[in-house]
Amino acid sequence: MLKVLKFGGTSVGTLDRIQNVAQIIKKIKDEGHDVIAIVSAMSGETNKLIEYAETYTKVPVAHEMDMLLSSGERVTSALLSIALNAIGYPATSMSGREAGIVTDASFMKARIQSIDTTNMKNAIKAGKVVIVAGFQGVTEQNRVTTLGRGGSDLTAVAIAGAIEADVCEIYTDVDGIYTTDPRIEPKAKKLEKISYDEMLELASLGAKVLQNRSVEMAKKLNVNLVSRSSFTPEVEGTLITKEENIMEKPLVSGIALDKNQVRVGMYGVTDKPGIAATIFTALANANINVDMIVQTVGVDGKTDLDFTIPTTDLEACKTVMNTFAQQARNIDYNDSICKVSVVGVGMKSHTGVASKAFTALAKENINIRIISTSEIKISMIVEEKYAELAVRSLHEAYDLDK
Ligand code: ASP
Ligand code: MG
Repeated sequence: MLKVLKFGGTSVGTLDRIQNVAQIIKKIKDEGHDVIAIVSAMSGETNKLIEYAETYTKVPVAHEMDMLLSSGERVTSALLSIALNAIGYPATSMSGREAGIVTDASFMKARIQSIDTTNMKNAIKAGKVVIVAGFQGVTEQNRVTTLGRGGSDLTAVAIAGAIEADVCEIYTDVDGIYTTDPRIEPKAKKLEKISYDEMLELASLGAKVLQNRSVEMAKKLNVNLVSRSSFTPEVEGTLITKEENIMEKPLVSGIALDKNQVRVGMYGVTDKPGIAATIFTALANANINVDMIVQTVGVDGKTDLDFTIPTTDLEACKTVMNTFAQQARNIDYNDSICKVSVVGVGMKSHTGVASKAFTALAKENINIRIISTSEIKISMIVEEKYAELAVRSLHEAYDLDK
């Protein structure tokens, strides 16, 4: 098999950790596989480099930032290659350029345009382990670029897609994706498999583990992703794959929690065509990410509008909403709410999934403010003080602890 492995910052955080990664690769080589490993910078390194630049100016020249930041990944790729060669495993490190990664010229947030895999293929043919510095490429004009924070995952997925690797294993300090956050529910279980779409919906569970952009790319390129830990490499991780590859589809795969939500209420709005269009266009133009929306008509013929936004967008949202103050009886903001979501591809073909969620919360006397559903998700807004209780009772209701 051809395996693409990616080691994040904590996995290569010290010289010992890099030695540990060399041992993981040695074992995989001994099992007869070919390996391309993508590495992040040592943890904290990228932040340190940003601080260096900011001692001169808060707005450093972008393409020089890329020259600077890309160096962190190059250091770890060379060190890992040195460590592997030292234990008798031929390896070669490659910068983004040498790995054939061409991007557009959006410095510090470049997008990969193409990958010429010739160099990597030749090195593999010569029996070498290829170590690629993650998070970087070059423009067509040969300027170094970086892919945005957390971008090494993207490098790994893009390479795995371009070279048609059998699997892309992402090593972090977490050993997979759990049915819910184990800090909230210690009975949470590690999932064996999960579909791309479920993973994207469960972003809050995977946030520490996988960058959303790279899950989207894996889906597009049909790359089998595995989330696993370099601290416990003997433990199998979680496979993130296409739905068709999951034979026995669980009804519900996981419960996600998002506390960074604010509910905005706009009450007593005159009910006429176009009002929602005007408000949500204004919010969109201000780049505010509106999530759940509910509109209800009151007895007086006026409309109440409720929606949620990320906490980080609150100030910007207030600015926009103030321009509509004349058109509503009142507008209020409640940030002591949270969103709990039940996610599972199995609910596409089953009934009664939503009612089970509502029953579970009712049993605990938790009031649901807003409900929204999609094919594979039921999201509920509840008071933040019930967040953990809601997660635990939903986890139990769907037997996720079994
Ligand atoms: N070193 C980069 C960062 O910290 C890229 C990565 O780790 O994926 O954002
Ligand atoms: Mg990272």
